[in-house]
Amino acid sequence: MDVLERAVHGEALSTDEIVSLYDLPLADTAAAAHEARLRRTRPDIVTYLIDRNINYTNICNVACNFCAFYRTKRQGDAYVLSYQEIGHKIEELMSLGGRRILMQGGVNPDLPFEWYLDLLRYLKAHYPEVRIDAFSPEEILGLEKITGRTLHELLIALKDAGLDGLPGAGGEILVDEVRAKAAPARIRSSDWFRILDTAQILGLYTIATMVIGFGETYEQRAQHLVTIREQQEKALRKYNNGFAAMAMWALQTEHTRLKGKAPGASAHEYLQQLAVARLALNNIPNLQASWPSMGFKVAQTALYYGANDFGSTMLEENVVSVAAGHSRTNATLRQIIRHISDAGFTSAERDPYYNILNYPDVEAVLSEKEPVALPMA
Ligand code: SF4
Repeated sequence: MDVLERAVHGEALSTDEIVSLYDLPLADTAAAAHEARLRRTRPDIVTYLIDRNINYTNICNVACNFCAFYRTKRQGDAYVLSYQEIGHKIEELMSLGGRRILMQGGVNPDLPFEWYLDLLRYLKAHYPEVRIDAFSPEEILGLEKITGRTLHELLIALKDAGLDGLPGAGGEILVDEVRAKAAPARIRSSDWFRILDTAQILGLYTIATMVIGFGETYEQRAQHLVTIREQQEKALRKYNNGFAAMAMWALQTEHTRLKGKAPGASAHEYLQQLAVARLALNNIPNLQASWPSMGFKVAQTALYYGANDFGSTMLEENVVSVAAGHSRTNATLRQIIRHISDAGFTSAERDPYYNILNYPDVEAVLSEKEPVALPMA
């Protein structure tokens, strides 16, 4: 069997074999990735999630070169949302049928640990049906430094206060050479894995992430994928609680210090990388298409390059979109369902663990007037 056939059959490719995939014609890689996706997930279904991003503070002392979102506390538009403001955003989500928030912010050294615990308790008391996936590994690392608590103690305290999961943001390329150039103070790979590993031990929800376009080599991308796959193998075997999915997107550099210094990734490169990820990650069944970084049309095409999920409504995405220099901060249900249907799949609403919740009445949704007009490519 050649390398593509072996990947389709679920064999774990070596780092060198993954690198060799980049030399193959994209049509061949895409066909194999789509075949692998059809075998590992429901072939007729593309899922989506109704949720909301909430960025509780934009004050951050990490100052990543690729970030246009963060502010220092002295800047006029620096903010910390109150519990009530966050609650109001959750009520907006609930009015649309959503029951999950993805809450992240900067690493704000002025917020004490009790602020986070009280926030989680407040949200669980007022909105018990809403699950809270929150705080990137970078924020958790910041809390470790502030509190001096062990990681285990810290995550247990957050979990007891109401935390349901940790989004695996900040994965980018988990090779320190790449990370050091893009953001010298950024969390290192070993800490990223240490934090996600402990979260998985404690039964918290996690996903894996990847961002391309820093100027990383194919070897470094392959290394990233292999280390994610190894963590997944360990987490499933030892804790029965691995990554629920892989989310991958392309670096956006508009309004950042990396503008003109990092290549980013074209649609072709993004789709190739998605296909390679599908073939390399034989133990992570769910791969998301990224409409916030690539636009709806490329995200729709991604459904034939290994993706089985159209991501989420987000309602308010501020980090990728600010760096991308556009106003794509949300997607309506109608937009998501239309793009899934037009690509020839059945839409299904899911929960964060990819359990199907329901099948929308597509005709009814598509016949509704579009509530929000977004300039999507
Ligand atoms: S990416 Fe996150 S950690 Fe880095 S500067 Fe932006 S908010 Fe801070």
